[in-house]
Amino acid sequence: MKVTIPNLGNITLIAAKSLFVNLGHEVIMPPPNSKRTLDLGVRYAPEYCCLPLKIVLGNFIEGLEKGADTLLMVGGWGPCRFGYYAETQKRILKSLGYKFEMISLEVPRGNLLHQLHYVHRLMNKNSFSTLIKSFRLAWAQVVAIEDLEQEALRTRPREKIKGETTKILQAGFSLMERAQSVEEVEKIKQKTLKNLERIKDQGKEDLIKIKLVGEFYVALEPFVNHNIEEKLGYLGVEVERGVSVQPWVTSALNLNFLKGGQKKEGPVEKAARPYLPHSVGGEGQPTVGNVVLASERGLDGAIQVIPFTCMPEIVAETVVKKVSEDLDFPVLTLIYDEQTGEEGLVTRLEAFVDLLKSKKLNRCLT
Ligand code: SF4
Repeated sequence: MKVTIPNLGNITLIAAKSLFVNLGHEVIMPPPNSKRTLDLGVRYAPEYCCLPLKIVLGNFIEGLEKGADTLLMVGGWGPCRFGYYAETQKRILKSLGYKFEMISLEVPRGNLLHQLHYVHRLMNKNSFSTLIKSFRLAWAQVVAIEDLEQEALRTRPREKIKGETTKILQAGFSLMERAQSVEEVEKIKQKTLKNLERIKDQGKEDLIKIKLVGEFYVALEPFVNHNIEEKLGYLGVEVERGVSVQPWVTSALNLNFLKGGQKKEGPVEKAARPYLPHSVGGEGQPTVGNVVLASERGLDGAIQVIPFTCMPEIVAETVVKKVSEDLDFPVLTLIYDEQTGEEGLVTRLEAFVDLLKSKKLNRCLT
């Protein structure tokens, strides 16, 4: 199989790729997301589809052009449209004449055999122990990538020389790409953490802190969100991520479907409960819960990122307005579509950061 996987920052570039390479597949990654990727998705997807579907469609076309014959996708079920992505993309690509197999991995809902068939295909005649070993390595990479990216968000606004954080992070990730064991991943992570610590201006303690919440793909894919984390870092803001791949995977592996599809309520869902007591799909409820928790923990504000027409985040946006009023906690909502421009985004970020700074100053003076 010549497998292609849609881009999702370093997670797919390093961890997902390592998993399938170690299972003996040829992995053909699509080129990094670009204007062409977006244009392809916009050209062939129905207009009303959400932005992530369009970009992933563009990834698949670019992967197929490079010679892939198998498209790997994750699926889901619930109130948002994510569950229809794989099938919609498959039909569009078939209608364009591409020949491929689409493998959509998802938490089973009555189609356990179908999913086992996919897992069997991806195991590629390897033993169960090879699967576990490959998965452990990929998982260690996921955890290390997310820990390092989070630490970089603390370091960037404190770096003594502009750009050093990004350089150190990239150096760490290029080593991690070649790591062959969990121990090696851990060593690279520790070394990169030390390097990040070394470039921090320790005097910069009291920075503006913002929680980044919103739709999973837009929050985590830098091309799509126009590198919002880096831009905020250079504005002197420490960003804390409210979205992560880890809970998504662990919840799937907890086999919630065997427990009637009920996901256990965690602190984020509990915090959201007074405003939004049930899931509305996607990250809608966690967005609300994370804003409540960020306010309780004394952060200065939150930014919610939404792809245009995303139903769960539109529901959350309405609820977050009430949370923001009740808790006197500033929240900026940014809606992304294919027209979103860089300059308008920077202006809005700068204005929001200025507002948070003056609010903080007023708090200190009273
Ligand atoms: S969460 Fe929003 S953007 Fe993501 S698939 Fe669902 S509707 Fe689309």
